[in-house]
Amino acid sequence: MAPTGAGLRYAQSIMTSISEALARTHERISRACAACGRTPEQVGLLAVSKTQPWPVVVEAVAAGQRAFGENYVQEGVDKILHLRAQQPQAMLQWHLIGPLQSNKTREVAEHFDWVHSVDRLKIAQRLSDQRPAGLPPLQVCLQVNISGEASKSGVHPDEVLALARAVNALPRLHLRGLMSIPEPAAGEVARRAPHRALRELRDHLQREEPSLHLDVLSMGMSDDLEAAIAEGATLVRVGTAIFGRRNHVQAQP
Ligand SMILES: *Cc1c(COP(=O)(O)O)cnc(C)c1O
Repeated sequence: MAPTGAGLRYAQSIMTSISEALARTHERISRACAACGRTPEQVGLLAVSKTQPWPVVVEAVAAGQRAFGENYVQEGVDKILHLRAQQPQAMLQWHLIGPLQSNKTREVAEHFDWVHSVDRLKIAQRLSDQRPAGLPPLQVCLQVNISGEASKSGVHPDEVLALARAVNALPRLHLRGLMSIPEPAAGEVARRAPHRALRELRDHLQREEPSLHLDVLSMGMSDDLEAAIAEGATLVRVGTAIFGRRNHVQAQP
């Protein structure tokens, strides 16, 4: 039964707010690109739908969004299967951006299109071994601990080159670039510094190992996407600015 009355108005207001928020986010991307002489086509928008129920993703799809980021494997796989059944023609792209433990790699290899959070060879090897033959290679980024906190996940900058060489040799993965989650910072200069460091690291790897093709810098979120774009981000990961504040915290995978 189609929703009526208050239910319909509620559904319509969610739809309007998501499509407006997506339009505002594209506006921000365009302005940030214009400010540094880049074009909006050079910056992809990943809508981070973690903790959002699947009908919210359906609304974002209706508003034209195709690439979604998820943090938790089981929640992500449930949503992928739901959306695939609901909208088989939509050609959605699913990115795992959260931490990945080795006992979850099979589900990820079988369902996701991208993984941004590869930070050790064992995980990469399992993903490559478990990627089904009928699917294209899994697109991966190496997550770098660019701010250097001991508590954060991500490979140390000094160890990225060796990991990149090893991952690049795995048959069922396609190494695309680097990802980072810097500490929140106030002010343009402090916000740009870790993004610049990630870009410089990418350039360094590319010079050291010309067989790499690192065309992706996954950096920038709701609060700092302008700073990330100014430093060369090619994929920004935006949750709050599109879907609003997340009002519950999901258990870790
Ligand atoms: C949650 C999350 C985002 C989105 O953050 P917002 O501040 O809500 O835009 C981006 N990247 C990662 C890895 C995340 O976990």
